[in-house]
Amino acid sequence: MSAPVEIKAKLGLDVFKPGKEPHIRIKPGLERDPRLKPAIKACPAGLYTENAEGEVLLSAEGCLECGTCRLLCGLEVLDWNYPEGGDGVQYRYG
Ligand code: SF4
Repeated sequence: MSAPVEIKAKLGLDVFKPGKEPHIRIKPGLERDPRLKPAIKACPAGLYTENAEGEVLLSAEGCLECGTCRLLCGLEVLDWNYPEGGDGVQYRYG
């Protein structure tokens, strides 16, 4: 029986085609909004971070399009869209 494949190894097989513009953005001026904080721990791709000033930052490249941040944070603080056709994640493993 073969060893299970770790999640990071699986994600490393995926391909991401970035669009011209990020498909998810934090709405301007809301970077310190506490509603963004759950995404720092919950985003499975680790795309949300917090800087020393307490601002939440998002780098949407590598997004798995799972919708977790949309559900946890809400559309009052995020502009959330799927990527344009052909852009975004291409799963290679399951
Ligand atoms: S949709 Fe999922 S992978 Fe993409 S930024 Fe939100 S939580 Fe992270």
